[in-house]
Amino acid sequence: MPLNLLLRQPIGVGMFWNWPRACYFPAMEHKGISVAALHFYVDAGVDETIGHEPVSRFAESRETAPPQVANVGSHRAALVSPDQPRPHATTEAETSAKALASSAGDLATLFAVMEGFDVCPLKKTAANTVFGVGNSGSPIMLVGEAPGADEDRQGQPFVGVSGQLLDRMLASIDLDRESVFITNMLAWRPPGNRKPTPEETSMCLPFVRRQIELVSPKVLVFVGGTSATTLLDNRAGITRMRGRWFDYPVGDGGSSVDIPAMPIFHPAYLLRQPALKRMAWIDLLAIKARLEDIA
Ligand code: URA
Repeated sequence: MPLNLLLRQPIGVGMFWNWPRACYFPAMEHKGISVAALHFYVDAGVDETIGHEPVSRFAESRETAPPQVANVGSHRAALVSPDQPRPHATTEAETSAKALASSAGDLATLFAVMEGFDVCPLKKTAANTVFGVGNSGSPIMLVGEAPGADEDRQGQPFVGVSGQLLDRMLASIDLDRESVFITNMLAWRPPGNRKPTPEETSMCLPFVRRQIELVSPKVLVFVGGTSATTLLDNRAGITRMRGRWFDYPVGDGGSSVDIPAMPIFHPAYLLRQPALKRMAWIDLLAIKARLEDIA
């Protein structure tokens, strides 16, 4: 008898009615409840197990959220401007990521050091390190958010449904995957596509910054709010930032240069909000014009 039918036998009747109830049926009840719980999880869309202990994301964000208001003089509160940088304490993992990233003199070495960066909790659950792909000598570099399930499986950025829309967006301005360099803020898929914690983002940041330094593009495109707000250290949000040119500084001290950077809507967002595609196409045309200017 299939297990599900067996477990549907009412307690105390059916084929087991004469078994000692105290020793058999509690186990049956327990199994029935566990199977029902599994069905519930599957129906709710859960498709993987990632840990034994529950994690309260609410508690985490309370601990790490920057203050939204500042007290000014006579007890009046002033809103902190979204354009101001986030307050941030550097962690050991971030310091180590910075040292490793800056020691890498080329993209292949950078990929190798990232492959060995086991400190990042995201790396423990990811199948692959998803590094940048495309033309590393390209004048244009795109930075997305994080790998999803397809990218994690194939080890390549933007190969799922939003990647297919990104391909069409690039084609609309005569570009393709071979003519641009595409990477992500995070090289490892957050389990279940959850939002990465601020610590995870900070420890991955030196790696994407170094990728940008090594590719040294003429134009940067931040695909979605996560890369735009993090790399520009600007909390304004994608709706306010898209379509505007920002300066992304590369290098330090006297040798610092600014790369023009434009945030655009993420294709995954455009798939949910197709009416916004019109604005995305306006932004793409501005990017095309900028590339033609510098050519
Ligand atoms: N979304 C991203 O931001 N990056 C990917 O690689 C895939 C989906």
